[in-house]
Amino acid sequence: MDEEVLKKYIEAGRIARVVRDEAARRIEPGVSVLEFCEWVEKRIMELGGKPAFPCNLSINEVAAHYTPLVDDDLSVPEESVVKIDLGVHIDGYIADTAVTVSFSDKWAPLLEAVRNALDKALEIVSPDTRFSDVGKVIESVIKMYGFKPIANLGGHSLARFTIHAGESIPNVYEPFLRGKFGKGKAYAIEPFGTNGAGSVREGDLVAIYALIRPNLRRRLSDVQRRVLNTIKERFRTLPFTERWLKDVAGLEELRKSLKRLARMGFLVQYPVLIEKGKGMVAQFEHTLVITDQGDVIVTTR
Ligand code: MN
Ligand code: MN
Repeated sequence: MDEEVLKKYIEAGRIARVVRDEAARRIEPGVSVLEFCEWVEKRIMELGGKPAFPCNLSINEVAAHYTPLVDDDLSVPEESVVKIDLGVHIDGYIADTAVTVSFSDKWAPLLEAVRNALDKALEIVSPDTRFSDVGKVIESVIKMYGFKPIANLGGHSLARFTIHAGESIPNVYEPFLRGKFGKGKAYAIEPFGTNGAGSVREGDLVAIYALIRPNLRRRLSDVQRRVLNTIKERFRTLPFTERWLKDVAGLEELRKSLKRLARMGFLVQYPVLIEKGKGMVAQFEHTLVITDQGDVIVTTR
């Protein structure tokens, strides 16, 4: 990883941290989820970054991947637990970070458990740490508080314009997992904890997509072609949402095109993820970079 790349990771991390902390202070019951997420994305750009994916605002048993649609009328409920998960990129180099805010003291121990799990996990990261050891720490800390880690969600390696670059960092102990951290790479660690079943299922709503096979040969309508070309140009392989394409086609046509492009295999869909036991869910996330010299830099702290 050269010096320029490292600088971009660190700058993305700085912006992500500022926006995340401002967002956590700003969120409150009654706030429009749509206005809030648009504010987050605008703020990232004001500070000189670009959103690496749509602002995710997932409430209560919704664990991840909720971003408002163009005509979303949801607002933050009283006594809710809200996960704000945002990403910033500079020239494709990503900082991915999340915080949970709760509007009831009842959930303070859950938030504390997951925040502490992330801190303890970060303490053991070095260039030779095994991913399984991180999972072990996360699982044991969350269980110490009487909650469950969400076993089918986890951290990941990051690469340029790629959020999930192939390696997974578990939130539970997986003794046979062979992966290790490595020099010159970036990773996100993101424990999720719950009082529910400890795993998520896919819900019906899809609000996030990403381009996975840009060069498929398929017959496309003019609108589909225009939507596809705009996606390539604006987002490359980073996740996006219909809100970021509303200038390209009418809403109904845009939605139809996205579904069709997904069915043809150009796009992958990211449905909302919901806790299987309808448990309350908390998440905290940081991105870290390991330099060629082996220094661990948590860019979003
Ligand atoms: Mn994230
Ligand atoms: Mn992540």
